[in-house]
Amino acid sequence: MELNDSIRNIKGIGQKSEKLFNKLGINTVEELLCFYPREYDIFGEIEHTSSASEGKTLIVEVCLNKKPVLTVHGNLKIVKASFKDAHGSITAVWFNMPFMAKMLRMGIYYILRGKVSNRNGFLELCQPKILSRQEYSNLTGKMVPRYRLTKGLTDNAIIKAVSFALKETNLNSDFLSSDIRKECNIITWKKAISAIHFPKDKNECIQARRRLAFDEFFFFMLGLEQLKKNKDKVVSKYVMNKSKKSSMLEKSLPYKLTTAQKAAWDEIKQDMTSGKVMNRLIQGDVGSGKTVIAVLALLMAVENDYQGAIMVPTEVLATQHYETFRTLLDGFEIKIGLLSGSMTAAQKRDIYIQIKNHTIDIVIGTHALIQEKVEFECLGLVVTDEQHRFGVRQRQALCLKGSEPHMLVMSATPIPRTLAIILYAELDISVIDVMPKGRLPIKNCVVNTNYRKQAYKFINQEVKAGHQAYIICPMVNESENIEAENVIDYANMLKENLPSRIRIAYLHGKMTQAQKNKIMEDFVKHDIDVLISTTVIEVGINVPNATVMMIENAERFGLAQLHQLRGRVGRGSAQSYCIFVSGNNSKETMDRLLVLGNSNDGFYIAKQDLKMRGPGDFFGIRQSGEFDFKLADIYQDADILMEARKAVMHFDKSDIQDFPTNRLIFKNNNSRM
Ligand code: ADP
Ligand code: MG
Repeated sequence: MELNDSIRNIKGIGQKSEKLFNKLGINTVEELLCFYPREYDIFGEIEHTSSASEGKTLIVEVCLNKKPVLTVHGNLKIVKASFKDAHGSITAVWFNMPFMAKMLRMGIYYILRGKVSNRNGFLELCQPKILSRQEYSNLTGKMVPRYRLTKGLTDNAIIKAVSFALKETNLNSDFLSSDIRKECNIITWKKAISAIHFPKDKNECIQARRRLAFDEFFFFMLGLEQLKKNKDKVVSKYVMNKSKKSSMLEKSLPYKLTTAQKAAWDEIKQDMTSGKVMNRLIQGDVGSGKTVIAVLALLMAVENDYQGAIMVPTEVLATQHYETFRTLLDGFEIKIGLLSGSMTAAQKRDIYIQIKNHTIDIVIGTHALIQEKVEFECLGLVVTDEQHRFGVRQRQALCLKGSEPHMLVMSATPIPRTLAIILYAELDISVIDVMPKGRLPIKNCVVNTNYRKQAYKFINQEVKAGHQAYIICPMVNESENIEAENVIDYANMLKENLPSRIRIAYLHGKMTQAQKNKIMEDFVKHDIDVLISTTVIEVGINVPNATVMMIENAERFGLAQLHQLRGRVGRGSAQSYCIFVSGNNSKETMDRLLVLGNSNDGFYIAKQDLKMRGPGDFFGIRQSGEFDFKLADIYQDADILMEARKAVMHFDKSDIQDFPTNRLIFKNNNSRM
């Protein structure tokens, strides 16, 4: 079998299961092998029930103590059973597995393996697996891979397919020579790909991960090399003159630009008048005021008779930017257009025409902007906002709409300068490291669910004082289908807990774009006081009057994402608050959240997050979607990054045709919305 053969060649994959694999993005044998586990089940020693602690995965050998009890709540069937060993007892809970009630026998010993959760102060084993002695001894000490699944496909099905593919495919070709492997201390691709699925032990897993992360960095930087060639040497077709209008706008702003904003803006002006093509990254924490820099730059382009475009990751944000631009540029006689995926075909066609004939000067849009049909008359400046939600490829695609236009990239990812210089090799960097004047630091608290009632009281007070609040809804389950239900239930519950004069609305990913936009508009206009939402509001949204952010199940998010969410408040002059509600009281979880509780600094948070992760944390918490690496993490693997960089620099580029070419290109990071 060859790497690029269809997975249909794998024993056991028929037409039906092929479709399921396809759903996970697996079409070829190579894609299957590169579908890395999400985590591993490690079957350690049997422990005592007394060593249960919240969040821990526990294996116990216990005897059924009392007859199991089956209760029914709506369409949820819950079986609870109490087990004991010599050191105490523990309750196990199974959802929608009513047969468990009959299957379990008194007086018999079972080996149970499951996660310990805390329900109203009692520790329970949640959905434990029951193993026979034989099964357990077969698994002891092993690391069993667990994959991202789709309905109808099990871990076992993937394990079988991967085992077959590993056996039947020739994996001997390695694009890295043994010299490089030796020098960089990495194992062969063949060894790595096999060990990432079925590691003998932790060490082998770390070695495999190291090699595969190395490859990701290597290909990424090889791609950058190509982009970098263009940097500096390209002569711009869009050399600009100084812009009177942007100076006017700058003067008419209700605030003074911070020194950092000024410096960034000066660098942009310098770039665009220099005769070279600008390729600049603006890096600034949430709330540092990046939008106005984009507006100034785009205005300058328009005054020079060029068109400009700004691409953002979500429609909600596109709509909001559209309003912001219209307000700021009111009176400048500039035609601004909005292009988003959810517009009707006729509306889009109309916008395409206006872009092509230059009726529209500045267009704001989502990915729709990089579609084939969009053609500009003279695209002089391209901006991507919230770069961390796009891949490098998407930002390049927008540039291809013009003939090497100036490019401005805006990101809120806190990457230390030394790393940023490497990862954004093709860009010059401006850092906005000063917050606008008059901002009060956000006050944070990390609490458990018992605090909810008090939080609602607090929200009530803030609303009374004329402010607004966001609540990020808990995630009951990872399945998306119940996301909507979940938000609606929460809204209903909240209505009972807040006075009826408080206007509550909700927002979730399953709503139509028009509905989402309407809700956001109403929130901006302050026709809504409390907005319950999923993470769809994570990026970019700016409602300075909102002063409370309450995040339910905060423990389920990465710290970087929580920091972005929190960035929705603290955007005005009023004191803002962020309430992190943890559904898990374990010390580890609380400590992690306290990092946010104690700091509002994105750089510091990223560093602490890294520190708190143990070496066994193979898959870490993804800090940033910006580079879309599957395994590699720019923070955790900075040393591997440096090795890979050395390797790229010494690499004989003439070998390039032997490369697995589908891995050479940049990953296309689809937006998650
Ligand atoms: P981000 O960097 O997160 O994109 P925004 O550009 O949305 O931040 O700005 C956040 C808020 O700060 C906006 O309400 C904006 O009007 C305001 N703002 C921007 N620059 C300044 C400044 N220099 N002084 C005061 N407020 C500012
Ligand atoms: Mg922004």
